[in-house]
Amino acid sequence: MQTTVQSTVRFHGTGLHTGQPVKMVVCPAPADHGIVFLRSDIRLGDATIPALWDKAEQSPLCTLIKNDAGVSVSTIEHVMAALAGCGVHNALIKIDGPEVPVLDGSAAPFVRAIMATGVKRLNAPIRVIEVLSTVEVHTAQGWARLGPGTGLTMDFHIDFADAAIGRQSKSLNLANGTFVRELCDSRTFCRASDVDAMRAAGKALGGTLENAVVVDGDTVLTPGGLRHHDEAVRHKMLDALGDLALAGAPILGHYEGHKAGHALTNMLLCALFATPDGFRIRDCDPAEAAQLPGAGVEEHEVPAVA
Ligand SMILES: [Zn+2]
Repeated sequence: MQTTVQSTVRFHGTGLHTGQPVKMVVCPAPADHGIVFLRSDIRLGDATIPALWDKAEQSPLCTLIKNDAGVSVSTIEHVMAALAGCGVHNALIKIDGPEVPVLDGSAAPFVRAIMATGVKRLNAPIRVIEVLSTVEVHTAQGWARLGPGTGLTMDFHIDFADAAIGRQSKSLNLANGTFVRELCDSRTFCRASDVDAMRAAGKALGGTLENAVVVDGDTVLTPGGLRHHDEAVRHKMLDALGDLALAGAPILGHYEGHKAGHALTNMLLCALFATPDGFRIRDCDPAEAAQLPGAGVEEHEVPAVA
């Protein structure tokens, strides 16, 4: 059955790119509501923004969604990944600023709070998006592909010049709490050489060595080092799950990303939904539901990180 959060879950922190303090409350919502953001600081006009693929704007460093009135919320990917990874299908997320708090740069604080509050079953079947044929998108940077599969499986490959990241590949089946155990605590990362350029462009103003892994050549500058030797590719998979959640329902398919990022994953969803024969939306049977990200996750499985 579909789910929501058992009761409100509160977060406060700083936006990674805006550097602004922000409060965010994840509230229960009824079946078929989906994940919807509400800008509680905006009193006039439509301040609701459904977390859907066709509301996403091209933004290379984060995922930003905007409604028809021009009201936006950015850097939604980590909380979207946490909700998908905990199997939460419906929530109203009230936020008093334009950017989701970065917290520790991973999805673990969101996961920990959602799991502590609990997930409530609703009286409606889960709808899933079953991928029927393969769609693929390319840019100069990389490519992404989505094809038929059982449950949600993912292959990801990255290749960075900095030896501290280098080449990393990972394949995961996201059933049975894999997201919570393997991915949720991996933090966002960047190269020291990119920090000045991002700051000059007015980005990463809330970035610190505590909420991002910063690498310079073969050196990890963040105190305490990495949480996983391949934390970077794990984080890219975390981002991909959050960005795929903008499909509006769990996907049954196989995702493959080669140096992919937010823009490519959104292009992939646009390509999928532009291919009417390429997918079907239907009720999920119990055996399939047991294979979805978030099914069978237990609170003690959340990694104990700072
Ligand atoms: Zn990220």
